[in-house]
Amino acid sequence: MPFAYDDQNIFAKILRGEIPNDTVLETQHTLAFRDIHPQAPDHVLVIPKGPYATYDHFALAASDEEIVDFTRTLGEVARAVGAQPSEAGGGFRLISNAGEDAVQEVPHMHVHLVAGRPLGRILQ
Ligand code: 5GP
Repeated sequence: MPFAYDDQNIFAKILRGEIPNDTVLETQHTLAFRDIHPQAPDHVLVIPKGPYATYDHFALAASDEEIVDFTRTLGEVARAVGAQPSEAGGGFRLISNAGEDAVQEVPHMHVHLVAGRPLGRILQ
């Protein structure tokens, strides 16, 4: 049974304009906005506009056009916040919590882009 999509989740409300957000980028299929509780100087949530609850749901049910749009927007967000890796440093981390074991809080698929400080290792 996939994680059910609940259109009363907070990101669905943001997409409908019922809750304000600090938008970084918006495209036809994707919205990127700053996390309300940032874990780093740049902490952006990138979400598809379609009703996908988890990463796997999005990856398997979304159209190629939505997936390409989402993936390119992630890359553009990294550049928009100045986090693209370079010889001088920089960089970013992408995280998508999916389901209970990953403690997914909001059941609308999202990828966190975290940047702006040294992030350390999370996997050994
Ligand atoms: P998850 O644990 O589901 O991967 O992350 C959900 C994220 O959404 C958290 O980092 C949390 O701070 C963020 N968040 C929750 N409610 C809001 C909100 O109303 N606005 C914004 N911009 N972020 C939110």
